[in-house]
Amino acid sequence: MTHSLYWFTNDLRLSDNALISLAAKQDTALSFIYCVDPQWFKSNHHDCQSMGQHRWQFLAQSLQQLNNTLKDYGQHLVIYHQAAHEVIEHYYHHHNVRTLYCSEQIGYDEQQTLLNVAKNHGDLVIKQANTFTLYDNQQLPFTINELPATFSQFRKLIEQTTPTINTLLDPPVYIARPLIAPMPWPTTLPNVNKERTLFAGGEQSATDHLADYFSSANPSTYKETRNALAGIENSTKFSPWLANGCISARQIVNALRNYEHIHGANDSTYWIYFELLWREYFQLYSLRYGNKLFSFAGITKRKPLTSFYPQRFKQWCTGTTPYPIVNACMKQLNKTGYMSNRGRQLVASCLVNELKLDWRFGAAYFEQQLIDYDVASNWGNWQYLAGVGADPRSGRHFNLVKQTQTYDANNQFINHWQGDEVHAIDSLDAADWPLSS
Ligand code: FAD
Repeated sequence: MTHSLYWFTNDLRLSDNALISLAAKQDTALSFIYCVDPQWFKSNHHDCQSMGQHRWQFLAQSLQQLNNTLKDYGQHLVIYHQAAHEVIEHYYHHHNVRTLYCSEQIGYDEQQTLLNVAKNHGDLVIKQANTFTLYDNQQLPFTINELPATFSQFRKLIEQTTPTINTLLDPPVYIARPLIAPMPWPTTLPNVNKERTLFAGGEQSATDHLADYFSSANPSTYKETRNALAGIENSTKFSPWLANGCISARQIVNALRNYEHIHGANDSTYWIYFELLWREYFQLYSLRYGNKLFSFAGITKRKPLTSFYPQRFKQWCTGTTPYPIVNACMKQLNKTGYMSNRGRQLVASCLVNELKLDWRFGAAYFEQQLIDYDVASNWGNWQYLAGVGADPRSGRHFNLVKQTQTYDANNQFINHWQGDEVHAIDSLDAADWPLSS
């Protein structure tokens, strides 16, 4: 008798999860797994880890919550500290697994893993569904290869054609029995901190946050407040849960429409949808351009005129550049795993324009630090700011003095994060920051 395996990736929820709904219909034994790849914690060729402590904390909390929810169905989540292709191989040979459920993947590397799994196991049926974006690809008024060159063109097309957003799916009523018994959390994984964090991972926390946000008046002033450098209420803060799939973009738009129905729509409520369209655009951009997302020249043919200065990069990472606003933002990121959108734009512009560094190192450091790290949104935004992506204006150079006057006129943010501890560039000994590459 054959069995089935559900491989969770960035779809860590049971509500509005088209793939869970599909898997719940089958009645052969089913195992739920999540694979924590040991590579995520190793230094990569940008001398960063893919998974830093804050990201890991949020992910681990999300996995624990998911396991608790699955228990209500007599099920459980088995966590492996092992590469996914090896785990799947094991299930294929030792548990006769012939059906694999896995969400449609947007990142190039994740797509490659899945292609290799399919190639190496000819009779393994791989069932997929979109769990990550607002619209399914076939609902869009263009094919992926015809993705509009700019966000504005994309937005206009979407707003002209208004594709229908699928109705939300309830969590399953019944899930088949597990194939294997629960296993303890691998002891080789990094510890999960018991401290209270700014955001708690997991589907329940996401649902609570969604309800809190839309029961406040904040959505009606979002457009005026969204650029603030600090303040939990100034933007939606949905990103960490969205990135891990603890909530779907559809659930957010659904709650937004309900809010508008009760309180009225205005520019601010529209702008929340507008920003979710940016997210949508970058997801499609990743599908369209594949591994060009990580290329120095991006989707263009010109490489930026930058070099690499290890010491400047270290100063940027630690928040000890000559620019107080950048330092404050980086210290906020290092301490909390979060940074506002305006902050991200400023520090990225500084890395590219003031420090003249290779933008990919900045993107890699964000990948390590951000609890809302999302491959498409992160690398797509970095390309955009570095002038090698979907920006018709070829890069953005922010005037840091002016930006400080606008967004931190009385230095409150800078003082809070001690951004004033500035250091000149190229004045420190670079020898303590060796780069393997
Ligand atoms: P809100 O302002 O409340 O926006 C609502 C939602 O819209 C967000 O949760 C997010 O899903 C989406 N969104 C908003 N702005 C953008 C944008 N510019 N691009 C894509 N989606 C957007 N966002 C990530 O989710 N993960 C990343 O790894 C990431 N890296 C970034 C790197 C750089 C250099 C820059 C400039 C931006 C990056 N962003 C990333 C986009 C944006 O900064 C965050 O989504 C936002 O700050 C998250 O806070 P929020 O949920 O309160 O956003």
